[in-house]
Amino acid sequence: MASPGQKVVLITGCSSGIGLRIAVVLAKDEQKRYYVIATMRDLKRKDKLVEAAGDAYGKTLSLAVLDVCSDESVKQCINGIKDRHVDILINNAGIGLVGPLESIPIEEMKKVFETNFFGVIRMIKEVMPDMKKRKGGHIVVVSSVMGLHGVVFNDVYSASKFAMEGFCESLAVQLMKFDVTLSMIEPGPVHTEFEAKMIQDVKAKEYPGTDPDTINYFKNVYLPSSVDIFETLGQTPDDIARCTKKVIEANKPRFRNMTNSLYTPIVALKYADETGGLSIRAFHNILKMGPLMHVSMVALKYLTCGCLKSSSISPN
Ligand code: NAD
Repeated sequence: MASPGQKVVLITGCSSGIGLRIAVVLAKDEQKRYYVIATMRDLKRKDKLVEAAGDAYGKTLSLAVLDVCSDESVKQCINGIKDRHVDILINNAGIGLVGPLESIPIEEMKKVFETNFFGVIRMIKEVMPDMKKRKGGHIVVVSSVMGLHGVVFNDVYSASKFAMEGFCESLAVQLMKFDVTLSMIEPGPVHTEFEAKMIQDVKAKEYPGTDPDTINYFKNVYLPSSVDIFETLGQTPDDIARCTKKVIEANKPRFRNMTNSLYTPIVALKYADETGGLSIRAFHNILKMGPLMHVSMVALKYLTCGCLKSSSISPN
């Protein structure tokens, strides 16, 4: 149970990746300011988290079952918390979906929205009324740079994060009246199971109903570029956890928090040309570059080093 003065932090999707690292970084806070309730769908998947948490497990970190796609599971988890009191809610659970649109059944697309969009709303609906009553609290949503600009072959995933951005931008205004803070964390590529699952899925899939030109564009142009982008620009889950800690500890937490300054120019393109043509053409041309892209990515990394920090939140 939380000690007096400790903030109760509830995090979704903690069995792997970013959620696991946020849970560990907060539970290991030197001043022990947080009591972390790390949640996951299946406690059989707790071992990696328990090992990474070390001594903090059982002291500043506890575990609970929570499936963001189930009303009952969400209610049961929140009802199990003393006085249903959550100071900081971190909505991290999410799933990806990549591939040619023609080959993806609508049911699979709905699953992405059920988790990435309605899953977050389900959590917020359960926790927000108490925060409003108490006139305090912080809701954090792990979105993505793909919630700020679309990425080819990630159409539905990107749409789910755009939906979240729009939802939160609207809700943040109302919450200001109640002194409840809402912040988005917008990572670029991060090395987690997300990336591994994507590559594994692609190898296993046949893409029925998709024409050969599109399959070729996806497998031989998009995928190698995507792997290259992950290798060159990818951050670690720990980077994102440290950014998130900075956001919740800020005096005046920002609403938008891109974690990778290298994405600032890409997002800026969108706002530089209100017709949208500039950013769509830029992405098209980036993909056409093929092997040259790697060189450009490395050059971008060095050219932009340090000078874009103010537009993003740095992990250090
Ligand atoms: P991950 O697959 O390691 O973690 C996602 C976690 O969510 C997993 O532990 C999974 O079990 C959990 N989850 C899935 N469905 C759930 C459900 N219904 N209820 C509860 N938990 C559920 O991947 P990650 O990269 O750590 O992803 C975490 C978040 O970061 C996601 O919201 C993702 O969209 C976002 N993100 C990831 C990247 C990236 O490149 N990895 C980039 C930007 C944003």
